[in-house]
Amino acid sequence: MTKITIDPQTCTGCGLCLLSCPVDVIRLDPVRNKAFVAYGNDCHVCYLCEDDCPEKSISLSHDISNSRRFSTYDQFGLKI
Ligand code: SF4
Ligand code: SF4
Repeated sequence: MTKITIDPQTCTGCGLCLLSCPVDVIRLDPVRNKAFVAYGNDCHVCYLCEDDCPEKSISLSHDISNSRRFSTYDQFGLKI
């Protein structure tokens, strides 16, 4: 189960994470001008939002055994 955390203290509301996410997990609260996780269960754990946020406001934590990002590494027993 992936947990996406967006720090409202550092989020500037730039909207880049909305553009990065291929499956529309993240939305922008127009009142607070902050990004928030709207559809967390749809997350594919691609890390694009975390990588693209200029403020490093987004962090993902997840069960590695259920992650697409790590599946190839796990398959071949590689360490990163
Ligand atoms: S990319 Fe980062 S700073 Fe910009 S809206 Fe998303 S979480 Fe906020
Ligand atoms: S990790 Fe990928 S799928 Fe999940 S919220 Fe971020 S951009 Fe969207």
